[in-house]
Amino acid sequence: MDVDMNGKNSVKRLVSVIAVLALLSSCLFGCSFFGEEEGESLLSVHFIDVGQGDCELVISPSGETMLIDAGKTEAGDEVVSYISSLGISEIDIFVASHYHEDHIGGSHDVFEAFEIEEALILDCEVTTSCARKLIEDIEKEKCDVSYAKRGYEFDLGDARVLTMSPEKISDKGGNNDSIVLRVEYKSSRYLFTGDAEEAVEREMLDFYSQKELSCDLLKLGHHGSSTSSSQEFLDTCAPNIAVISCGEGNSYGHPHKETLEKMKKTVKSLYRTDVDGDIVITTDGHKFYLESTQKSA
Ligand SMILES: [Zn+2]
Repeated sequence: MDVDMNGKNSVKRLVSVIAVLALLSSCLFGCSFFGEEEGESLLSVHFIDVGQGDCELVISPSGETMLIDAGKTEAGDEVVSYISSLGISEIDIFVASHYHEDHIGGSHDVFEAFEIEEALILDCEVTTSCARKLIEDIEKEKCDVSYAKRGYEFDLGDARVLTMSPEKISDKGGNNDSIVLRVEYKSSRYLFTGDAEEAVEREMLDFYSQKELSCDLLKLGHHGSSTSSSQEFLDTCAPNIAVISCGEGNSYGHPHKETLEKMKKTVKSLYRTDVDGDIVITTDGHKFYLESTQKSA
């Protein structure tokens, strides 16, 4: 009898512990939100872990998709399988932030695998083989083409996207020509900066007001390099959340120590694809939720 009672108590205790753990994990990862707010309109951004490179998939509440970059060439397969696993077969807009291989190398596989409606690219002469390949793929796909220029705006479902840079091509399609996009949904804002460095941040600070640059989430420029993320830019954007896209043990030493030091005093939450793997951050237009991070072994 005593043994039975103890057994029951142990089971009860175990159930309580599991319940508390489940509650804790749902609070940490925002799952309780999704449970409670079923049917709520959410915008999600997937920072896909492509190693040393960039790749962000934005999905509007009504399902429109924008893929910003596709990582380097060898990451192409992974990008395709990640997007396919979400049940997506069509990409509404593919953005090539600039013409470096760690951003557009994987785009060939993406163009092979999905129907692409529109490409947003830089209006400049292409000189590298990966850029030439991208232009060939765009021509083959016969998709619409838009050229990025400061002030160019478009809708992604209920979200509004503003091109904040470049004002003009000055870096032959390199880092400082990066297409900088601000995605706004209700009162929430994400800022995607490609590999834009301090000079571009300066230009944006000169052109835009603090109100226009302020954002909730900042995808840090140039993989967390110290050549981007100037203190003034960070203070003006004043994000609560920052994401760095870079590869584990990369040869550039990204993210640089200086950047990480700045982030400690600038943001509440910092996520890194080299540490966290794929990162999914959603918003209902007001609050942000970390849906998941998945670092594979
Ligand atoms: Zn890069």
